[in-house]
Amino acid sequence: MLVTFKEILSDALDHKYAVGAFNCLSLENVMGAIEAAEELSSPIILQLAEVQFPYSPLACMAPIFLEYARKSKVPVCVHLDHGQSFETCAEAIRLGFNSVMIDSSLLPFRENVALVKDVVRMAHAMHVDVEAELGMVGTIGVTEASGGDIYTGVEESARFIAETGVDALAIALGNMHGNYVATPKLNITRLQEINARNHFPLVLHGGTGTSVEDFKACIHNGICKINVATAIQLRITEKVRRYVADDRANYIDMKYVIVDASREVVKEHLTLFESIGHA
Ligand SMILES: [Zn+2]
Repeated sequence: MLVTFKEILSDALDHKYAVGAFNCLSLENVMGAIEAAEELSSPIILQLAEVQFPYSPLACMAPIFLEYARKSKVPVCVHLDHGQSFETCAEAIRLGFNSVMIDSSLLPFRENVALVKDVVRMAHAMHVDVEAELGMVGTIGVTEASGGDIYTGVEESARFIAETGVDALAIALGNMHGNYVATPKLNITRLQEINARNHFPLVLHGGTGTSVEDFKACIHNGICKINVATAIQLRITEKVRRYVADDRANYIDMKYVIVDASREVVKEHLTLFESIGHA
């Protein structure tokens, strides 16, 4: 069933687990993710990021996400990941997404607040919830640590939440997007301080390659949504590569190789995030 972002996150916050948010780029990804959530009786978030629109157009993916969400036996939220403008958020809402992320985290604090506030006002009028980001979650190979404090500030987080009216906040704890060369060490102390200050749904981006220990510390200290994108792509590539090496390989069966790989990797993360049985 299709449920709101607020509902799915508040249950996770109350019961100290995290909802897995999986970037699905194809029908096969969606099928595998929903099967995984149903098998494990877990809530799940299906999401698509704006940078992924060139190969998975928003207008084509929206009806697929919504159809599987509505028919599903478990709570599903359909979310826009890393919307880059007010207009993209509005378009996702028009297409039926029930939550959106506006990512203006590269802007200075005041400008970030102003844009998020505008999106929140528009989205809430449509009964849609909003995620925003404060602090810098970089990208492997693109962003290097800038030398200063790269982590989200504690007081800043409280001001940001109060001033924008946002429903969930993605924070920077040393996490990065993409595939890590070495396992990162997250700043769990900072997370505990932000959590103690706000008791508010916090989001971890760049979930691929994080250690089990850090994942557990995040989940038990206020992170209630974890984004997973790269891990799915890596697993599918590995399985498809092995499959097509066989002369008998054919396209239809390959589609199911993708479904199975998606289901497998999503199940592993739902287990890790302790959301099993919370549907
Ligand atoms: Zn992200």
